[in-house]
Amino acid sequence: MSMQTHLFRCLSDNYGVLVHDPDSGETASIDVPEEAAVRKALADTGWSLTHILITHHHNDHIGGLEGLKTPDVTVVGPKKDAARISGLDVLVGEGDTFEFGGENVEVFETPGHTSGHITYYMRNAGLVFAGDTMFTMGCGRLFEGTPADMWTSLNKITALPASTKVFCGHEYTLSNARFAVTADPTNEKLKERLAEVEKKTEQGIPTVPTTVGEELETNPFVRAGTVEVAEAMGLAGESPEKVLAEVRRRKDSF
Ligand code: ZN
Ligand code: FE
Repeated sequence: MSMQTHLFRCLSDNYGVLVHDPDSGETASIDVPEEAAVRKALADTGWSLTHILITHHHNDHIGGLEGLKTPDVTVVGPKKDAARISGLDVLVGEGDTFEFGGENVEVFETPGHTSGHITYYMRNAGLVFAGDTMFTMGCGRLFEGTPADMWTSLNKITALPASTKVFCGHEYTLSNARFAVTADPTNEKLKERLAEVEKKTEQGIPTVPTTVGEELETNPFVRAGTVEVAEAMGLAGESPEKVLAEVRRRKDSF
């Protein structure tokens, strides 16, 4: 059987997600925003936690770590953040792989939001866990990285097959989509997607996961290399990094 996922909301606008392999019985929590919410998700699914995969050191991604870590749980996390996340058992960086549920999970370093941020890719399952690097129609704020870092990081994700499901750490999509139409104003697909997102948000339906293909079509940060977004930023002919910097600057005050 293939990998199963269970998405749940927690804290104010975070998403938690459990990934479960029915064959091995292994279950991973991607980040642990909040102990109680992860415990409830485990109770709801009947799955037993065997792994915790940490994307970055922010408290809304590791807050439940101390409470959920037991000797039966393997905690994987970014090598570069070893000094600021306590309780990591397996330290990983760019190009590393490790076994989970019969998958060879691949690790990408995706700095920009934080310097140590990593992304987990399950190639056979077609799932990528992007933390606060890529959001549905957005990207993370650049707290510890440059626009060039973020551009490189986003490209690692968009290089994956178009059907790859992208899970991210927050429900920021309505705000992202409303901003996106200002940054890519001639994009008809984006206008359609904004309407869909408004409907889903009103009905309380998550806009996560998204897919690589949908982001390539509608995410203005991913599309920083297009003529359309460059022109909308007043930066026709400039590099994607410069365009991304301007998109990010405008979104920060949107
Ligand atoms: Zn964060
Ligand atoms: Fe976060």
